[in-house]
Amino acid sequence: MKKLYTGKNAIEINHLCALLKLEGIEAQVKNIYSVSAFGEIPYEDSLPQLWVEDRDHERAAGILSREMSADDARLKTWSCPRCQEEIDGVYGQCWNCGYIAEG
Ligand SMILES: [Zn+2]
Repeated sequence: MKKLYTGKNAIEINHLCALLKLEGIEAQVKNIYSVSAFGEIPYEDSLPQLWVEDRDHERAAGILSREMSADDARLKTWSCPRCQEEIDGVYGQCWNCGYIAEG
């Protein structure tokens, strides 16, 4: 097996793992419950990781990069559910109708 991705937290890794499963790729999650308090292992190795079969690695990497760029796009703009205006991601409020975005 090959390591595909090192994530920041279990939520992210579980999300990506589910995404790969939808595409028919069996991904394995490692280090999901590890605690940095162990201290003996390098920080990088204590983070949750996604591993896939060698033959799936290329396809899985493609799915992952698609997902990452989708996340970027979501950060850039959002559309107001009230007036459908496209709002720049840095603003939490619609400049057109005053709707306040959640989160
Ligand atoms: Zn609006």
